Order: sequence, then structure tokens, then C-alpha cells
Amino acid sequence: MAGRIRDEDVATVRERTDIVKLVSGYLTLKKAGHDSFVGLCPFHTEKTSSFSVSPAKGLFYCFGCGKGGDAIAFLREVEHLEFAEAVEGLAKEAGITLRYEGDTPAERRAASRRQGLHRANEVAFELYHEMLLQGREGEDAWR
Ligand code: ZN
Repeated sequence: MAGRIRDEDVATVRERTDIVKLVSGYLTLKKAGHDSFVGLCPFHTEKTSSFSVSPAKGLFYCFGCGKGGDAIAFLREVEHLEFAEAVEGLAKEAGITLRYEGDTPAERRAASRRQGLHRANEVAFELYHEMLLQGREGEDAWR
């Protein structure tokens, strides 16, 4: 697990996500007013549209089941994701590179351990690669 996503990056993701476009991937939205789109709620069964989206506010709300929130909350709810997973998904969509806080010493230790492992893997790979290409073992392996 990576550390906590920095607040300002979460804010950027919120800002840059087009909530109408996001929601439209899951249900059909119809323009219902100056700052309002409506559709059938994906969170409860209904025949009349009580689910509304405000592009200006970047929020959704369902008058039927009371669910509401921002684009991150929508994606979490509809895809059953953790907060960080939803933010990461939206960041990828918007081309935003997220930065993480290494808040606690434990997290920092875990992060540096991961990097160490990664380096060890690279070294092992290079060694193996060299052996394959240049060494006697390599010649044998090619035959
Ligand atoms: Zn609903």
C-alpha cells in the first residue's frame, strides 16, 4: 500500500474530473436545467429519474435513496472501491500524477524497503541477461 494521497492532488483530481462524463459511463443522463442532469439512479431500482448531477458543483445526489457526493464518492460507490483506488482511477483518466505522503516512519520504512527490493530485482535481471548474452551458460541456453 502506498501512503496517503496528498490533499492538494485529491483536490486537483476533483477539479479536473468531469462528473457528467464519469456518470454517463454508467447511466444515461438528460439535461434538465441550467446546471442539472438527471437519470435513473444506479444505486437503487427506480422507474422515474431521481438521480441528479450538478456539473458546476461537481456533485451528484439521488432524491430516491439519498446517496450523494462528488465524483470520487460516485466512483467508489458504483465500483465498490477504497477512497485511494477511486482517486487513482480518476487521476489516471485525467492524466494527473499523484503524490503520496510518507506520513509515518513505518510508511517511509516500507517505501524504502520496496525500493530496495526493486533495485535487487533489477540487478538480478541484468546479471541473468548478461549471462544469457555473453556467458557460456548463455550459449548453452540458446541451443
Ligand atoms: Zn438512488
